[in-house]
Amino acid sequence: MLNVSDAVDAVLSETHLTPLETVSIENSAGRILAGEILASHDSPPFDKSLMDGFAVASSSFEGQPDDGTIRMEVVATLTAGQQCQLAVSRRTAIRIMTGAILPAGADCVVPIEQTIFDEQNPREVSISRSSVSPEACVLRQGAAAKAGSCLLREGRRISAQQLATLAEFGIDRISVRQRPSVAVLATGNELVSGSQPLRPGQIRNSNEPMLIAQTRQSDGLPVALGIARDDQTELRQRIQTGLQNDILLLTGGVSAGTLDLVPAQLAEAGVRRVFHGIQMKPGKPLWFGVFERDGHRCLVFGLPGNPVSSLVCFELFVRTAIRKMIGYSDPKPQACLAMLDQPIRVGGNRPVYHPVSVRAGRTGLRAEIIPWSGSSDLRATADANAMALLVPEHGPYNTDDRVPVFFWNTELPVDSTR
Ligand code: AMP
Ligand code: MG
Repeated sequence: MLNVSDAVDAVLSETHLTPLETVSIENSAGRILAGEILASHDSPPFDKSLMDGFAVASSSFEGQPDDGTIRMEVVATLTAGQQCQLAVSRRTAIRIMTGAILPAGADCVVPIEQTIFDEQNPREVSISRSSVSPEACVLRQGAAAKAGSCLLREGRRISAQQLATLAEFGIDRISVRQRPSVAVLATGNELVSGSQPLRPGQIRNSNEPMLIAQTRQSDGLPVALGIARDDQTELRQRIQTGLQNDILLLTGGVSAGTLDLVPAQLAEAGVRRVFHGIQMKPGKPLWFGVFERDGHRCLVFGLPGNPVSSLVCFELFVRTAIRKMIGYSDPKPQACLAMLDQPIRVGGNRPVYHPVSVRAGRTGLRAEIIPWSGSSDLRATADANAMALLVPEHGPYNTDDRVPVFFWNTELPVDSTR
């Protein structure tokens, strides 16, 4: 049986990038840049004032004692957006507002609060030497970005601040990878959809809404295919429909039961099996294969029916595949270290992905172990926001031991180098 890391590598090596598309920046939040973005001009595009005050030449104050004050003539007032032909000289200042162009001859701005100035007598200002220093309250042209420099790297996810950066440089369209379509097919004679009443032996189809939500939160486009009975003909038809997408997720029917028909039906449909079975808990029966026809490619995941197995396998493998498809530079599952709130023993011989509730503590991340009875215990996961990787050989774990945690449905920046 493959271990998780080898299985992730196997999935990634079968995963293709989706085609490029162009989106307007209004619709770019959450998308991944498909190429680097270069500055089309300097930022700021001109030397600008960072304060409301007076633009002066600092050299005017050379030779003055520290407490020396110079009375200067105010020759103009400049507001943001205005152009100014005037320059400052040794004995003159220009009143200037935040964002206005620094006038010729000036090399600093003295904030109005640090001057002696009377609005009734606006032609005059007194400025002390101690409040003047070269380059103070000034941002020079190109100080934030030089024309031609890299603003945003390929693989970067666009959020508000990246979007604003694009806007600042007049970039209104960007190239991104298309979101993959992800078909979700639940299988099982016992499944009932929605809020229908349950007859004996029946349960509700909780995996479908969960996988659809996980798909959305991973930037995929979900396609709900409903429930297929454990019946060869029905499975065959639904699988055909599902294979038209970039990814097909099936839940249930991949283990060793008499009605676990999914692997055989996938083989019959021409899906090439890459692996079946992973050394992990929950999620051991995971099935993964690839369907290729006439240039179309579909990744097929047969997720185990037990809800927590489906949840965990999606986070480790399906999310990783989607991230690669849409162009993340590092698509693999990212772990942070968190300190355990309680001791825990891990039985068996497979690594366990255990539901935990992670929060930021005074000394870093802390993980509370959520009582959990295994792959069918979906209820426990509702109190959790992450899974901790617990390895039997490393246990038993003590309070304050550090363990890797993987957040569910959240992007957390991880710096693996420090
Ligand atoms: P299976 O993998 O088909 O053997 O299913 C394993 C367990 O997961 C069984 O208890 C199923 O009833 C349950 N199960 C299968 N599919 C779903 C689903 N879509 N939603 C909730 N539970 C499911
Ligand atoms: Mg089943």
